[in-house]
Amino acid sequence: MIYKVIGKDEFRKLIEGLIESNETFGPRQVDTGKDGQPIYQFRKVDSFDDLELDYNYTASSLKNFFLPFKELLSRYAFTDDDWEQGIEYRVNPRVIVGARACDINALNKLDDIFIRGAFPSPYYMARRNNTFLIGMDHMPPEDCFCESLGELTVRQGFNLFCTDLGDRYYLSINSSKAFNFLKKVKTSNPTAEDDRKWIERRQLIKSSFQTEVETDELPDLLDIEFSSPIWKKWGDKCLNCGVCAMVCPTCYCYGVEETIDVSLKQARKERQQYSCTVVDFAEVAGGHNFRPLKEDRLKYRYYHHYHGFAENADQQICVGCNRCGRACLPGINPKDVINDLILESGDDV
Ligand code: SF4
Ligand code: SF4
Repeated sequence: MIYKVIGKDEFRKLIEGLIESNETFGPRQVDTGKDGQPIYQFRKVDSFDDLELDYNYTASSLKNFFLPFKELLSRYAFTDDDWEQGIEYRVNPRVIVGARACDINALNKLDDIFIRGAFPSPYYMARRNNTFLIGMDHMPPEDCFCESLGELTVRQGFNLFCTDLGDRYYLSINSSKAFNFLKKVKTSNPTAEDDRKWIERRQLIKSSFQTEVETDELPDLLDIEFSSPIWKKWGDKCLNCGVCAMVCPTCYCYGVEETIDVSLKQARKERQQYSCTVVDFAEVAGGHNFRPLKEDRLKYRYYHHYHGFAENADQQICVGCNRCGRACLPGINPKDVINDLILESGDDV
C-alpha cells in the first residue's frame, strides 16, 4: 500500500476527471423516509456536486453492481439441425465513489465465492475487474455493528481509500491504476502530523459505535441452540418477503430459469437473486419442500451467515451493516435475534 495526502479541491478535480471519462456512480439522495430522513442509494453521477459523500448508509448495498437482481446468462438459437449459444459478460470500465469499508469487505467475501471459489463466475469477475472502486471512511450510523465483526477497516478490494482529515484526505493507494490517476492531480507524502491525525480519526470512528453484538462464540452458540424456541419466536414474525436478502451486501443465493420461445427457435437462461426466507426456496421437483416452516427458513439464513461460513471458510459472512434490520417490516434484526440466543443459552448480553 502507498499513502498520499490530497487537498479536497484536488480530490474534486480527480473525481471530475474520472466522471468525464467514465460512467461513475456514487451516493445520492433518492427519497425521504417517513421519519423525514434522506434515503440514499448508489446512482449514476454527472458531476462532483451530485455526490453526497456525507451519506449515512445506502438502503441497498453495492452488491447489485456485481450481482444484478436479474441477469442474462446465455441465449440459444436453434436451427433445423444445429444450435448456437451466445454468452456475453463484457462490461465497460466504470467508477464507484464513496464505498464504505464494510461494503468493500462484503465484496471481498463475494470475491471468495465468485472469483476464488470452486466455480468462478466470469460475469461477476468481469464486473469486478472493470470497476474502479474508491472507498471513504465515515462515522458509524447508530445501528451499525460492523466493529463487532471486525469489518470496520478494510485493507484490500479497493483501488483507493480516503480517510477524512477535515480539509484533506489521507489516501491509501491499492492499485497501479489509482497511482497513475493520482499523477494528474497534486498530492503530497503524509507528514508526521497527517499520520497522527489519521490515527486519531481511526480511534474516533472505533469509539463511536453505539451498537455492539457479541459474535465471537456465535458459531458454537448456533450449534447449541439449533432447537431453540427463539427460532419460532422470530420465525412467526417473518413475512417471507425476502427483502433482507435483497438489501444484504453478502447474500448471494440465486435461482436459474430457462425460457423457451414459443417458436422453439430461441431460448434464454437467466439468473435471479433469491432469498432463503422465501416459501419455495427449498422446494424441489415433485413439490417436496425441505423447509416448509418459517422458523426453519429464518434459522437457515442465520446459520448461513454466522455458522456455515465460519466452519467452511473461517469467516462470518455478515459485515454488520444492519441493512436487513432496517428493511424488515416486522423488525427482525441480527442484534435482537443474536441477543435472544445468548440470553437463551444463559450468558449475559
Ligand atoms: S425482511 Fe424480515 S420479514 Fe422479510 S423475509 Fe427477511 S426476516 Fe422475514
Ligand atoms: S447486517 Fe444484515 S444485511 Fe448487513 S451483512 Fe449482516 S446479514 Fe447482511
